[in-house]
Amino acid sequence: SAMEPAKAPPPHEKIAEALLRWYAANRRDLPWRRRRDPYAIWVAEVMLQQTRVETVIPYYERFLARFPTLQDLATAPLEEVLKVWEGLGYYARARHLHRAARTLVQEYGGSFPQTLSEWRRLPGVGSYIAAAVLSIAFGQDLPAIDGNGVRVLARLFAVEEDPRRPAGRRRLEALAERLLPRGQAGDFNQALMDLGATLCTPKAPRCSACPLQAFCAAFRQGDPEAFPVRAPRRSLPHYDVTAGVIQDGDRVLIAQRPLEGMLGGLWEFPGGKVEPGESLEECLKRELREELGIEVEVLEPMMTLRHAYTHMRITLHVFRCRWMGGTLQPIGCADARWVRIEELDRYPFPNTDRQIVERLKAEGVPERDDLLPWRSGPESGFSIIQGER
Ligand code: SF4
Repeated sequence: SAMEPAKAPPPHEKIAEALLRWYAANRRDLPWRRRRDPYAIWVAEVMLQQTRVETVIPYYERFLARFPTLQDLATAPLEEVLKVWEGLGYYARARHLHRAARTLVQEYGGSFPQTLSEWRRLPGVGSYIAAAVLSIAFGQDLPAIDGNGVRVLARLFAVEEDPRRPAGRRRLEALAERLLPRGQAGDFNQALMDLGATLCTPKAPRCSACPLQAFCAAFRQGDPEAFPVRAPRRSLPHYDVTAGVIQDGDRVLIAQRPLEGMLGGLWEFPGGKVEPGESLEECLKRELREELGIEVEVLEPMMTLRHAYTHMRITLHVFRCRWMGGTLQPIGCADARWVRIEELDRYPFPNTDRQIVERLKAEGVPERDDLLPWRSGPESGFSIIQGER
Protein backbone atom coordinates (compact mmCIF):
# COMPACT_ATOMS: atom_id res chain seq x y z
CA SER A 1 0.00 0.00 0.00
CA ALA A 2 1.15 3.55 -0.73
CA MET A 3 2.87 5.36 2.11
CA GLU A 4 0.86 8.24 3.48
CA PRO A 5 2.93 11.42 3.04
CA ALA A 6 3.77 12.96 6.43
CA LYS A 7 1.23 15.68 6.93
CA ALA A 8 2.67 19.14 7.64
CA PRO A 9 1.33 20.38 10.96
CA PRO A 10 -1.23 23.18 10.59
CA PRO A 11 0.22 26.66 11.19
CA HIS A 12 -1.25 27.05 14.68
CA GLU A 13 0.75 24.04 15.84
CA LYS A 14 3.89 25.49 14.30
CA ILE A 15 3.28 28.75 16.09
CA ALA A 16 3.00 27.02 19.46
CA GLU A 17 6.09 24.92 18.73
CA ALA A 18 8.18 27.94 17.73
CA LEU A 19 7.00 29.81 20.80
CA LEU A 20 7.75 26.97 23.22
CA ARG A 21 11.18 26.40 21.70
CA TRP A 22 11.99 30.08 22.13
CA TYR A 23 10.64 30.02 25.71
CA ALA A 24 12.76 27.02 26.68
CA ALA A 25 15.88 29.00 25.75
CA ASN A 26 14.81 32.51 26.77
CA ARG A 27 12.39 32.30 29.69
CA ARG A 28 12.85 34.99 32.29
CA ASP A 29 14.13 33.82 35.64
CA LEU A 30 11.39 35.25 37.88
CA PRO A 31 11.16 34.48 41.60
CA TRP A 32 7.69 32.92 41.34
CA ARG A 33 8.92 30.54 38.64
CA ARG A 34 11.44 28.89 40.92
CA ARG A 35 8.83 26.61 42.48
CA ARG A 36 5.51 25.18 41.39
CA ASP A 37 3.69 26.33 44.49
CA PRO A 38 0.10 27.40 43.70
CA TYR A 39 0.14 29.87 46.60
CA ALA A 40 3.27 31.62 45.30
CA ILE A 41 1.98 31.66 41.73
CA TRP A 42 -1.35 33.04 42.85
CA VAL A 43 0.24 35.84 44.92
CA ALA A 44 2.48 36.76 41.98
CA GLU A 45 -0.39 36.85 39.50
CA VAL A 46 -2.45 39.06 41.81
CA MET A 47 0.47 41.48 42.21
CA LEU A 48 1.19 41.48 38.47
CA GLN A 49 -2.29 42.70 37.62
CA GLN A 50 -1.86 46.31 36.50
CA THR A 51 1.75 46.32 37.70
CA ARG A 52 5.11 45.80 35.99
CA VAL A 53 7.32 42.81 36.78
CA GLU A 54 10.26 44.95 37.99
CA THR A 55 7.98 46.78 40.41
CA VAL A 56 6.42 43.56 41.68
CA ILE A 57 9.62 41.57 42.42
CA PRO A 58 10.68 43.32 45.67
CA TYR A 59 7.08 43.37 46.95
CA TYR A 60 6.64 39.71 46.07
CA GLU A 61 9.82 38.75 47.89
CA ARG A 62 8.89 40.73 51.00
CA PHE A 63 5.36 39.32 50.94
CA LEU A 64 6.52 35.72 50.65
CA ALA A 65 9.14 36.25 53.35
CA ARG A 66 6.49 37.66 55.67
CA PHE A 67 3.68 35.25 54.67
CA PRO A 68 5.46 32.13 53.36
CA THR A 69 2.34 29.94 53.26
CA LEU A 70 -1.38 30.21 52.76
CA GLN A 71 -1.86 29.63 56.51
CA ASP A 72 0.49 32.49 57.38
CA LEU A 73 -1.49 34.84 55.18
CA ALA A 74 -4.87 33.64 56.42
CA THR A 75 -3.96 34.15 60.08
CA ALA A 76 -2.29 37.57 59.65
CA PRO A 77 -4.27 40.73 60.52
CA LEU A 78 -5.42 42.67 57.44
CA GLU A 79 -3.48 45.74 58.50
CA GLU A 80 -0.20 43.83 58.33
CA VAL A 81 -1.04 42.59 54.86
CA LEU A 82 -1.83 46.13 53.73
CA LYS A 83 1.41 47.36 55.28
CA VAL A 84 3.48 44.93 53.21
CA TRP A 85 1.42 45.90 50.16
CA GLU A 86 1.87 49.62 50.77
CA GLY A 87 3.12 51.42 47.66
CA LEU A 88 2.06 48.70 45.24
CA GLY A 89 -1.35 50.31 44.69
CA TYR A 90 -4.78 48.84 43.89
CA TYR A 91 -5.24 47.84 47.52
CA ALA A 92 -8.46 45.94 46.90
CA ARG A 93 -6.15 43.24 45.55
CA ALA A 94 -4.53 42.82 48.96
CA ARG A 95 -7.84 42.80 50.82
CA HIS A 96 -9.29 40.23 48.44
CA LEU A 97 -6.19 38.05 48.59
CA HIS A 98 -6.36 38.06 52.36
CA ARG A 99 -10.06 37.24 52.41
CA ALA A 100 -9.62 34.50 49.80
CA ALA A 101 -6.79 32.96 51.86
CA ARG A 102 -9.12 32.77 54.85
CA THR A 103 -11.81 31.15 52.72
CA LEU A 104 -9.35 28.54 51.44
CA VAL A 105 -8.24 27.68 54.96
CA GLN A 106 -11.75 27.62 56.39
CA GLU A 107 -13.65 25.96 53.54
CA TYR A 108 -10.99 23.94 51.73
CA GLY A 109 -8.85 22.96 54.70
CA GLY A 110 -5.94 24.94 53.25
CA SER A 111 -5.86 23.13 49.91
CA PHE A 112 -6.40 24.68 46.49
CA PRO A 113 -9.47 24.07 44.35
CA GLN A 114 -8.99 22.46 40.94
CA THR A 115 -11.78 24.01 38.92
CA LEU A 116 -12.26 27.40 37.29
CA SER A 117 -15.66 27.88 38.87
CA GLU A 118 -14.38 27.31 42.42
CA TRP A 119 -11.45 29.65 41.91
CA ARG A 120 -13.71 32.31 40.45
CA ARG A 121 -15.87 32.27 43.54
CA LEU A 122 -12.91 33.51 45.61
CA PRO A 123 -12.72 37.26 46.22
CA GLY A 124 -10.64 39.10 43.62
CA VAL A 125 -10.16 36.07 41.36
CA GLY A 126 -11.23 36.73 37.77
CA SER A 127 -11.03 34.32 34.89
CA TYR A 128 -7.46 35.35 34.06
CA ILE A 129 -6.02 34.63 37.52
CA ALA A 130 -8.02 31.42 37.83
CA ALA A 131 -6.74 30.15 34.48
CA ALA A 132 -3.17 31.30 35.18
CA VAL A 133 -2.96 29.40 38.49
CA LEU A 134 -4.67 26.28 37.14
CA SER A 135 -2.49 26.14 34.01
CA ILE A 136 0.84 27.08 35.60
CA ALA A 137 0.55 25.30 38.95
CA PHE A 138 -1.70 22.38 37.98
CA GLY A 139 -1.02 21.91 34.27
CA GLN A 140 -4.62 22.34 33.17
CA ASP A 141 -5.29 23.14 29.48
CA LEU A 142 -6.53 26.68 29.93
CA PRO A 143 -5.39 29.82 28.09
CA ALA A 144 -4.45 32.72 30.41
CA ILE A 145 -3.59 35.76 28.38
CA ASP A 146 -2.29 38.87 30.17
CA GLY A 147 -1.72 42.29 28.61
CA ASN A 148 1.55 41.15 27.02
CA GLY A 149 -0.08 38.09 25.52
CA VAL A 150 -2.96 40.18 24.20
CA ARG A 151 -0.50 42.38 22.33
CA VAL A 152 1.33 39.41 20.80
CA LEU A 153 -1.89 37.73 19.63
CA ALA A 154 -3.38 40.97 18.32
CA ARG A 155 -0.26 41.49 16.20
CA LEU A 156 0.19 37.89 15.16
CA PHE A 157 -3.31 37.81 13.68
CA ALA A 158 -3.66 41.56 12.93
CA VAL A 159 -6.87 41.61 14.96
CA GLU A 160 -9.01 44.54 13.87
CA GLU A 161 -11.11 44.80 17.03
CA ASP A 162 -10.07 46.61 20.21
CA PRO A 163 -9.27 43.86 22.75
CA ARG A 164 -10.71 45.99 25.55
CA ARG A 165 -14.12 45.66 23.92
CA PRO A 166 -16.16 42.44 24.18
CA ALA A 167 -15.89 41.55 20.48
CA GLY A 168 -12.11 41.91 20.49
CA ARG A 169 -11.77 39.98 23.71
CA ARG A 170 -13.85 37.10 22.39
CA ARG A 171 -11.74 36.96 19.23
CA LEU A 172 -8.50 36.81 21.21
CA GLU A 173 -9.88 34.14 23.51
CA ALA A 174 -10.82 32.03 20.51
CA LEU A 175 -7.35 32.46 18.98
CA ALA A 176 -5.63 31.57 22.24
CA GLU A 177 -7.85 28.52 22.65
CA ARG A 178 -6.90 27.29 19.17
CA LEU A 179 -3.17 27.85 19.61
CA LEU A 180 -2.95 26.26 23.04
CA PRO A 181 -0.78 23.09 22.91
CA ARG A 182 -2.50 20.44 25.03
CA GLY A 183 -0.49 19.47 28.07
CA GLN A 184 1.74 22.54 27.87
CA ALA A 185 -0.66 25.36 28.63
CA GLY A 186 1.34 26.73 31.56
CA ASP A 187 4.49 27.16 29.48
CA PHE A 188 2.53 28.44 26.52
CA ASN A 189 0.81 31.12 28.61
CA GLN A 190 4.07 32.20 30.19
CA ALA A 191 5.84 32.16 26.84
CA LEU A 192 3.31 34.60 25.38
CA MET A 193 3.79 36.85 28.42
CA ASP A 194 7.57 36.75 28.05
CA LEU A 195 7.53 37.35 24.32
CA GLY A 196 5.30 40.38 24.82
CA ALA A 197 7.44 41.67 27.67
CA THR A 198 10.82 41.27 25.98
CA LEU A 199 10.46 41.32 22.16
CA CYS A 200 6.92 42.20 21.16
CA THR A 201 6.98 45.38 23.24
CA PRO A 202 4.40 48.17 22.93
CA LYS A 203 6.90 50.45 21.15
CA ALA A 204 9.55 49.31 18.65
CA PRO A 205 9.01 45.53 18.81
CA ARG A 206 12.15 43.56 17.90
CA CYS A 207 10.64 41.58 15.05
CA SER A 208 14.06 40.64 13.69
CA ALA A 209 14.70 38.50 16.79
CA CYS A 210 11.14 37.14 17.06
CA PRO A 211 10.48 33.40 16.74
CA LEU A 212 7.00 34.13 15.34
CA GLN A 213 8.01 36.55 12.60
CA ALA A 214 7.28 34.05 9.80
CA PHE A 215 3.67 33.75 11.00
CA CYS A 216 3.02 37.36 11.98
CA ALA A 217 0.36 39.28 10.06
CA ALA A 218 1.21 42.64 11.63
CA PHE A 219 4.87 42.19 10.66
CA ARG A 220 3.85 41.41 7.07
CA GLN A 221 1.66 44.49 6.97
CA GLY A 222 4.67 46.56 8.04
CA ASP A 223 3.36 48.40 11.13
CA PRO A 224 3.13 46.13 14.21
CA GLU A 225 2.69 49.13 16.52
CA ALA A 226 -0.74 49.68 14.96
CA PHE A 227 -1.90 46.65 17.02
CA PRO A 228 -3.63 46.16 19.39
CA VAL A 229 -6.18 48.50 17.83
CA ARG A 230 -7.39 51.14 20.26
CA ALA A 231 -10.88 52.52 19.96
CA PRO A 232 -10.87 56.18 21.02
CA ARG A 233 -11.36 56.42 24.74
CA ARG A 234 -13.04 58.94 26.91
CA SER A 235 -10.75 61.13 28.98
CA LEU A 236 -10.72 60.45 32.72
CA PRO A 237 -12.85 62.68 34.95
CA HIS A 238 -10.94 65.03 37.25
CA TYR A 239 -11.81 65.89 40.85
CA ASP A 240 -10.46 68.38 43.34
CA VAL A 241 -9.99 66.77 46.73
CA THR A 242 -8.97 68.33 50.04
CA ALA A 243 -7.09 66.93 53.03
CA GLY A 244 -6.44 68.49 56.43
CA VAL A 245 -3.33 68.16 58.58
CA ILE A 246 -4.29 68.74 62.21
CA GLN A 247 -1.34 68.63 64.55
CA ASP A 248 -1.02 68.63 68.30
CA GLY A 249 2.69 68.93 68.99
CA ASP A 250 4.29 65.76 67.69
CA ARG A 251 0.94 64.05 67.05
CA VAL A 252 -1.24 64.32 63.99
CA LEU A 253 -4.80 63.20 63.33
CA ILE A 254 -5.30 60.45 60.76
CA ALA A 255 -8.42 58.55 59.71
CA GLN A 256 -8.92 55.09 58.27
CA ARG A 257 -10.95 54.85 55.08
CA PRO A 258 -14.04 52.62 55.13
CA LEU A 259 -12.93 48.99 54.72
CA GLU A 260 -14.82 48.45 51.47
CA GLY A 261 -14.45 50.60 48.39
CA MET A 262 -11.57 52.51 46.87
CA LEU A 263 -8.33 52.38 48.93
CA GLY A 264 -10.42 50.66 51.62
CA GLY A 265 -8.76 50.21 55.01
CA LEU A 266 -5.88 52.54 54.22
CA TRP A 267 -5.17 55.52 56.46
CA GLU A 268 -5.24 59.12 55.27
CA PHE A 269 -5.33 62.73 56.28
CA PRO A 270 -9.07 63.37 56.55
CA GLY A 271 -10.88 65.32 53.84
CA GLY A 272 -12.79 64.61 50.65
CA LYS A 273 -14.11 65.61 47.27
CA VAL A 274 -15.06 69.21 46.52
CA GLU A 275 -18.73 69.58 45.63
CA PRO A 276 -19.98 71.88 42.86
CA GLY A 277 -19.91 75.54 43.89
CA GLU A 278 -17.92 74.84 47.05
CA SER A 279 -14.56 76.45 47.88
CA LEU A 280 -11.64 74.26 48.97
CA GLU A 281 -11.93 75.67 52.47
CA GLU A 282 -15.69 75.03 52.70
CA CYS A 283 -15.17 71.50 51.44
CA LEU A 284 -12.55 70.70 54.06
CA LYS A 285 -14.65 72.08 56.92
CA ARG A 286 -17.70 70.13 55.74
CA GLU A 287 -15.75 66.90 55.26
CA LEU A 288 -14.18 67.02 58.72
CA ARG A 289 -17.57 67.72 60.25
CA GLU A 290 -19.22 64.84 58.35
CA GLU A 291 -16.36 62.38 58.68
CA LEU A 292 -15.12 63.05 62.22
CA GLY A 293 -17.63 65.36 63.90
CA ILE A 294 -15.08 68.13 64.44
CA GLU A 295 -14.99 71.82 63.61
CA VAL A 296 -11.79 73.29 62.18
CA GLU A 297 -10.35 76.53 60.95
CA VAL A 298 -8.52 76.10 57.65
CA LEU A 299 -5.04 77.62 57.82
CA GLU A 300 -2.37 77.84 55.12
CA PRO A 301 -2.00 75.47 52.16
CA MET A 302 0.71 72.86 52.71
CA MET A 303 1.05 70.94 49.43
CA THR A 304 -0.80 70.29 46.17
CA LEU A 305 -0.52 66.74 44.77
CA ARG A 306 -1.76 65.30 41.50
CA HIS A 307 -2.55 61.63 41.04
CA ALA A 308 -4.14 59.46 38.34
CA TYR A 309 -6.11 56.34 39.24
CA THR A 310 -7.50 53.94 36.62
CA HIS A 311 -10.87 55.65 36.49
CA MET A 312 -10.17 59.26 37.55
CA ARG A 313 -7.56 61.93 38.14
CA ILE A 314 -7.42 64.01 41.29
CA THR A 315 -5.73 67.13 42.55
CA LEU A 316 -5.27 66.86 46.31
CA HIS A 317 -5.13 70.22 48.10
CA VAL A 318 -3.54 69.78 51.52
CA PHE A 319 -4.09 72.42 54.20
CA ARG A 320 -3.02 72.80 57.77
CA CYS A 321 -6.03 73.11 60.02
CA ARG A 322 -6.69 74.22 63.56
CA TRP A 323 -9.07 72.23 65.72
CA MET A 324 -11.87 74.53 66.95
CA GLY A 325 -14.35 72.18 68.62
CA GLY A 326 -16.41 69.04 68.50
CA THR A 327 -15.71 65.53 69.76
CA LEU A 328 -13.76 63.20 67.55
CA GLN A 329 -15.90 60.29 66.35
CA PRO A 330 -15.49 58.13 63.26
CA ILE A 331 -18.80 58.89 61.54
CA GLY A 332 -17.73 58.61 57.91
CA CYS A 333 -14.58 56.51 58.35
CA ALA A 334 -13.57 53.20 59.90
CA ASP A 335 -11.38 54.66 62.65
CA ALA A 336 -9.49 57.83 63.63
CA ARG A 337 -6.37 58.25 65.76
CA TRP A 338 -3.82 60.72 67.02
CA VAL A 339 -0.48 59.30 66.00
CA ARG A 340 3.06 60.46 66.67
CA ILE A 341 4.77 61.58 63.46
CA GLU A 342 7.59 59.09 64.03
CA GLU A 343 4.99 56.31 64.26
CA LEU A 344 3.13 57.16 61.04
CA ASP A 345 5.26 54.65 59.14
CA ARG A 346 3.43 51.83 60.88
CA TYR A 347 0.21 52.69 59.06
CA PRO A 348 -0.56 51.90 55.42
CA PHE A 349 -1.23 55.08 53.39
CA PRO A 350 -2.09 55.65 49.71
CA ASN A 351 0.73 57.20 47.67
CA THR A 352 -0.60 60.76 47.92
CA ASP A 353 -0.91 60.69 51.71
CA ARG A 354 2.47 58.97 51.99
CA GLN A 355 3.96 62.15 50.48
CA ILE A 356 2.31 64.20 53.22
CA VAL A 357 3.81 61.82 55.81
CA GLU A 358 7.26 62.29 54.28
CA ARG A 359 6.85 66.06 54.45
CA LEU A 360 5.80 65.91 58.11
CA LYS A 361 8.76 63.66 58.96
CA ALA A 362 11.14 66.02 57.18
CA GLU A 363 9.69 69.04 59.03
CA GLY A 364 9.91 67.52 62.48
CA VAL A 365 7.77 68.87 65.29
CA PRO A 366 6.61 72.40 64.50
CA GLU A 367 7.71 75.23 66.79
CA ARG A 368 4.19 76.57 67.00
CA ASP A 369 1.30 76.16 69.34
CA ASP A 370 -1.38 77.90 67.33
CA LEU A 371 -2.73 74.67 65.83
CA LEU A 372 -4.98 73.81 68.75
CA PRO A 373 -6.79 76.48 70.73
CA TRP A 374 -6.27 74.47 73.88
CA ARG A 375 -3.17 72.39 74.48
CA SER A 376 -4.11 69.02 75.72
CA GLY A 377 -3.03 66.07 77.76
CA PRO A 378 -4.67 62.73 77.03
CA GLU A 379 -7.31 63.39 79.68
CA SER A 380 -8.61 66.52 77.94
CA GLY A 381 -11.72 66.59 75.76
CA PHE A 382 -10.35 64.44 72.93
CA SER A 383 -11.62 60.96 72.64
CA ILE A 384 -9.16 58.61 71.10
CA ILE A 385 -11.30 56.07 69.33
CA GLN A 386 -9.20 52.97 69.71
CA GLY A 387 -5.94 52.87 71.61
CA GLU A 388 -2.79 51.61 69.95
CA ARG A 389 -3.21 47.98 69.14
FE1 SF4 B 1 5.50 40.91 17.68
FE2 SF4 B 1 7.12 41.49 15.64
FE3 SF4 B 1 7.04 39.03 16.65
FE4 SF4 B 1 4.98 39.96 15.25
S1 SF4 B 1 7.04 39.59 14.51
S2 SF4 B 1 4.88 38.84 17.17
S3 SF4 B 1 4.99 42.09 15.85
S4 SF4 B 1 7.74 40.90 17.70
